[in-house]
This record gives sequence, C-alpha cells and structure tokens, in this order.
Amino acid sequence: MHEKDDAESRFLYLAQRNKGNKFQYECPNCLCCFGIRQRVTLNKRHCPACGLEISVKEIDRQTKAEMPRGCLAIFDQLFEIFF
Ligand SMILES: [Zn+2]
Repeated sequence: MHEKDDAESRFLYLAQRNKGNKFQYECPNCLCCFGIRQRVTLNKRHCPACGLEISVKEIDRQTKAEMPRGCLAIFDQLFEIFF
C-alpha cells in the first residue's frame, strides 16, 4: 500500500474508534490533547494551549506509534471549525 494512503487510513481507523470520530492528537510541546477530525486540512492548525503548529508529519508519527498519552488536558470541541 502506498505510504500516504496507509497513513490516511490509519488516521481514519484510529479516529473512528473515538467519540465524534476524532483522533486524539497530543501536542509534542505541551502534551495537551485535543480531537482532530481531518489528517490534512487547508488551514494551518495550532495547539490551543501553546500555539505550536500541528503538522501532518507529527500526526503520522502519533498514528504509527499509538503512543501512551500523558494528556494534561482535553480540548474536545476546539477544531470543529476545521471540519
Ligand atoms: Zn501545545
């Protein structure tokens, strides 16, 4: 399978397991978590807590790792605007 399609399907698979079909992204800078619905968007997205840009590269790293999360906070509704 093509690497890009693989990353996209992995994102969708993980997102579908969560409430609201959102993947729980963990900011690598401040460790806050928030739900994102789309792996790729036209808009740039930023962490609501520290402002670090959310990159597709980092999303792919997290979906690959399915890492344990030490979330400090959950921002569940924040990215509705990008849906
Ligand atoms: Zn952050």
